[in-house]
Amino acid sequence: EEAQMDSVDVVVIGGGQAGLSAGYFLRRIGLSYVILDAEASPGGAWQHAWESLHLFSPAGWSSIPGWPMPATREPYPSQAEVLDYLARYEHKYALPVIRPVQVERISRSGSRLRVEADDGRQWQTRAVVSATGTWRHPYTPEYEGLDAFGGVQLHSAHYSHPEPFAGMRVAIIGSGNSGAQILAEVSKVAETTWITQREPAFLADDVDGRVLFARATEKWRAQQEGREPDVPQGGFGDIVMVPPVVDARRRGVLVSMTPPVRFTATGMQWADGSERNFDAVIWCTGFRPALSHLEGLGLVNAQGRIDVDDTKVRSVAEPSVWLLGYGDWNGAASATLIGVTRYAREVVRQITDCYAAACG
Ligand code: FAD
Repeated sequence: EEAQMDSVDVVVIGGGQAGLSAGYFLRRIGLSYVILDAEASPGGAWQHAWESLHLFSPAGWSSIPGWPMPATREPYPSQAEVLDYLARYEHKYALPVIRPVQVERISRSGSRLRVEADDGRQWQTRAVVSATGTWRHPYTPEYEGLDAFGGVQLHSAHYSHPEPFAGMRVAIIGSGNSGAQILAEVSKVAETTWITQREPAFLADDVDGRVLFARATEKWRAQQEGREPDVPQGGFGDIVMVPPVVDARRRGVLVSMTPPVRFTATGMQWADGSERNFDAVIWCTGFRPALSHLEGLGLVNAQGRIDVDDTKVRSVAEPSVWLLGYGDWNGAASATLIGVTRYAREVVRQITDCYAAACG
């Protein structure tokens, strides 16, 4: 029996900030489109952030296209304020988000792509925008002995607040902003050890995430102008010295050690033979693009990414598939609120051109 199949000009997969930004530009060009989102509610990955999370840039630097984020109570927006903004944003523009829909597979069917959800619903289209983010694909490194470790393990993707760790010996693994921020609050209720592969890089106390956006913008300009970026010192993932992290430094807990060589049943062992016991490990080791729905098209490369053309947003092997919001390889700062706009605009410009030329 044939499942019911809807036909639309564009299917956007993912209803987080990237998918909504694509929707903003799509609604102005008169093509039919849907945004399919696996979550039960609006806000994408922000729904799963920890409770104390505040953005590292003010509202004006945390907006997606069109309607800017309203002024917030404190200088840096809270998780709740970001969720409220994104929920109101999709309502304001009446974006056609359908949820929950988990897209499982995309396949080619003649001149069309067939988009299949896990509940049997199907869409056919000539243009797919994949904006599925990274939250559904947390990354944990492999370690000898990890299977035998008897303690609690949690990835930052699922961390919400420090109370469950009260009184425990907790290892926090990872040198980025997640590691620093989770360490800052867990260290108030538990005995923490911070483990990082490289020496953590801290921004100066008197700057915030805007410095990181400035770096990303310079990279983007250089790419547009076909020159080497005039890259200021430091990377895009440097730790922003938000007040809880400054406080952790004052308390003396913002000190990291190198990773162990193996796990044991009760903890970890280092190269010099020394051992430490831990009750819990919190992995703040990042994410990979959530691209399993594109595996059937054979697009995912050995690095778990998709080969994109010079514009960074279009698949080379399957030009009817656009990628949006996955971070550096897919556009400098494209995995941030303010950074995704220029790439969403570019994706929709290309789709417009494609349809003007009888796309597909
Ligand atoms: P997501 O928000 O993950 O949205 C993707 C959506 O696609 C989700 O709803 C998901 O359920 C859905 N989906 C996935 N797979 C499928 C599928 N197969 N079918 C259907 N739907 C699917 N950025 C800033 O600008 N400022 C900050 O201060 C900042 N702080 C951050 C702090 C932390 C701790 C983290 C982790 C990130 C931070 N970011 C910040 C980065 C960034 O803004 C977020 O990662 C952002 O959520 C990425 O948005 P997105 O729309 O690309 O992906």
